[in-house]
Amino acid sequence: MHILDGKVVSQAVKDDLKQKVAFLKEKGKRAPHLAAVLVGHNGASETYIASKIKNCEEIGFASSIIRLEEDIAEFELIKTIKKLNEEDTIDGILVQLPLPKQINEQRIIHLIDPTKDVDGLHPINTGKLVQGLPTFIPATPYGIMLMLEHYNIQTSGKHAIVIGRSNIVGRPISILLNQSHPFGNCTVTVCHSKSINLKEICLQGDIVIAAVGIPGYVKADMIKENAVVIDVGITRVKDDSKKSGFSIVGDVIFETVAPKCSFITPVPGGVGLMTIAALLKNTYNAYTNRNEIL
Ligand code: NAD
Repeated sequence: MHILDGKVVSQAVKDDLKQKVAFLKEKGKRAPHLAAVLVGHNGASETYIASKIKNCEEIGFASSIIRLEEDIAEFELIKTIKKLNEEDTIDGILVQLPLPKQINEQRIIHLIDPTKDVDGLHPINTGKLVQGLPTFIPATPYGIMLMLEHYNIQTSGKHAIVIGRSNIVGRPISILLNQSHPFGNCTVTVCHSKSINLKEICLQGDIVIAAVGIPGYVKADMIKENAVVIDVGITRVKDDSKKSGFSIVGDVIFETVAPKCSFITPVPGGVGLMTIAALLKNTYNAYTNRNEIL
């Protein structure tokens, strides 16, 4: 069993970007700039944003956080997005989800300029993804693909089982694994909350991607010998032994599943780190795309 180490792969991605930014600065050009919009004070969102900004700083990107109050009216957020769209020196816009109830998430995502949509959630970018055109791939599936590539995991002709069909993880990773490219060409089965016989389906998987959000959902008796298991799940569970008061756990019972696998991602230290690295890569690509146009 080998660990797919998100720390190692994300560091390789970041080192590459850091060099590229240093090169830009040497040439007297500005660095790519990521703007993150954070509404309210959700603890997990605060942590994610802080980590994204810290990673920007590490590699020399410019970054800004736009903090808005939990009870902000939707039109105020719309104004903020429109302003960021128009700001020439901002390359990537990220709106941290979830948003408070009074705000229509879809409406906000649809307002982000697709050329700055580094989370890859705008329908124009989703459409391009479906058609296999260059686009911003949502960061988590993009990070998973970078990981498969780094470890040269053979996917062609393999049966991939994706558990979860969300727009940010399950759906796009199922499309990517199915497309005709070196780390695609899988036969893909997508499972969800209404699937039946999920255990039998999972047992057919050469590759199993768990993106459910239920700790311990994937058990050893669902996984065949030598499968590749990618655990996307991130759930905070109460843990009094931790200073923070919680632990981060995945969807897979690592201790019993790992011995059966050829490769597996840990949680933490797996897909989560890759998500940030992929977001940075999207931001760099947004910068280069836009600067070709300017
Ligand atoms: P979501 O709630 O939008 O989607 C969950 C999916 O799981 C749904 O499609 C649903 O049909 C399916 N599902 C729910 N119950 C099920 C069941 N009993 N059996 C089979 N399928 C079931 O969640 P999401 O945004 O896709 O995130 C999934 C998990 O991944 C969460 O834990 C989230 O925190 C985590 N996540 C991690 C990263 C990362 O960077 N590692 C990024 C995004 C999301």
